[in-house]
Amino acid sequence: MIKVANNLPALSQLSPPPRDPLKRGSRPFLKSVIPVRKCGLLSEPGGMTQRSCVYFGARYVLGPVKEAIHLVHGGVGCSYYGKMVRGRPAQVFSTDFSEYDVIFGGISKLKTALTQAFSLNPKAKGAFVYVTCVSSIIGEDVESIAHEVSKKLGKEVKIVACPGFSAISQSKGHAIAYQVLSKIIKPYKPYDFPAVNLIGDYNVGGETKVIKNLLSKIGIKVHTVLTGDTKWSEVESLTKARLNLLLCSSTAKDFCETVKNEWGIPYIKVSFYGITAIKESLLKIAEFFNIPQRKVSAILKEEERAVYEEVKGLLPGLKGKKAMIILGAARIFTLSAMLKDLGLEVELGASIFAKEVDHEEAKPIVKHLTDNPGDDELERVFSLIKPDVVFINTRHQWQPVKLGIPVISFPQPSERGPYAGYTGMINFAKQLYSVINAPVWRLLSESF
Ligand code: SF4
Repeated sequence: MIKVANNLPALSQLSPPPRDPLKRGSRPFLKSVIPVRKCGLLSEPGGMTQRSCVYFGARYVLGPVKEAIHLVHGGVGCSYYGKMVRGRPAQVFSTDFSEYDVIFGGISKLKTALTQAFSLNPKAKGAFVYVTCVSSIIGEDVESIAHEVSKKLGKEVKIVACPGFSAISQSKGHAIAYQVLSKIIKPYKPYDFPAVNLIGDYNVGGETKVIKNLLSKIGIKVHTVLTGDTKWSEVESLTKARLNLLLCSSTAKDFCETVKNEWGIPYIKVSFYGITAIKESLLKIAEFFNIPQRKVSAILKEEERAVYEEVKGLLPGLKGKKAMIILGAARIFTLSAMLKDLGLEVELGASIFAKEVDHEEAKPIVKHLTDNPGDDELERVFSLIKPDVVFINTRHQWQPVKLGIPVISFPQPSERGPYAGYTGMINFAKQLYSVINAPVWRLLSESF
C-alpha cells in the first residue's frame, strides 16, 4: 500500500515539490519526480555518480581470473581501488607510480614488477597489465615491455588499456576486459557430451554453483564461467564447449558475438532468476542439445512444486507490493522477473549505467525506467512514493533506510545466499517477506 507523506522538510531544501502529489504512485507522477533518461549520457557536473571508472569496470570482469598476474601500471590508489571485486579481495600488483615516474617515465618499473610477479607466481600462465590514468596520459610504451617479458619468460602478457577518464562509466571497462579475454582463446576439440560456458555470470553470493547444479539435472556440463569462476587455461580452452549461455547482455553480449564469429560457437540469452525465466531458459538449452522436452518438463514441474510449497504461505503478504530497483542494468531485469513471479509490481528501474538494450529487455515488466539517477531525485522518489521495498547497492542503502523504507542491498553476501535457480527463488522470497514485514520499518517511517 503506497502511503502519502505530508511533511518533507529535507526535500523542501533540495528542490520544489512536484506539482501534483495527489497522483503519487501512478506513472505520470513518477515521471515528474524522476525523468526518463536515456542510457549512456554524461553524468551531470557536481552530481555524485555511482558509475565508477573504466579501470574498475575492467577489474570487475577480470579480477577473479585465476592463473593470472594482475598488475596495475599506475598509482597505488588504483590497485587499492580495484582490489575488492564483488565483495572479495583479489591479489593485485602495482608499479606504484611516483611523481618522479610521472616526469621521467615508469617503464623500467613495469619490467621489474612483471618479472618479480611471475617469479612469485611461477604457475601463472599469463598477466594482465592494467594501464590506468597516469601511465596512459604520459604515453608509456607498455606494449614493448609486455613483448620483451613475454618472450623472455614464455608467458603471455595482455595489456588492458583502461584509463579511468576514457569513458563515462565502468561499462567501457567491461567491454575492454572482454576484448582482452577474447584474445586468449585457442582452438580445442569440443567435448563429446553437452557442455556450455556461462558468459556474464559473476558468482555473486555463490550463484554459479546453483546454476551448475541446475544444468547438471538436465545433463549439461559447465566448462567455464566468465568470470565468476574461471582460470586462464579455461578461457583458453573455452572452445571445448559447444554453446555459450549469455547471462548478462550488458557486459558480455559483444564477447559472445565475437566468439560466435571467430570460433563458430553460438550463444543464447538465458536467465536463471525467477521461475518463468528458468523454465524458458532450460527449455531453450534442451532444444539446442536435442534433450527430450518431456524429460526437462518433468524436472521443472518437480522443482516448481517444491518452490511453491516453500513460498505459498508468503505470497499473500507479497502480492501487489511496490518495488523499486536502483542497481546495475542486468539486475533490473533479473530481479523484476523474480518479483513478478512473486506477485509484486516494479514501479521503478533506475540503472546506474546501462545500454538501451537493457532497458528494452526490462520494459515489459518495469513501469518506469531511467538511467543514472541523482541522489536528490531518489530522495524525492523514496519520500513521496514510499515503495514497499527498494533494491539498491550497499553504499546507497542508507538513504531509503533513513526514510523507513524496507531495503535489500546488493551485492548480497554469501550468507544471504544465492538468488539464482530454484533454491535462490526460495531464499529470495523468504528474505523479501521478512524484510517487507519487519516491524522496524513501521517504527522508522512513523518518525518522519
Ligand atoms: S579514475 Fe584513474 S586514477 Fe582513479 S582509480 Fe580510476 S584509473 Fe585509477
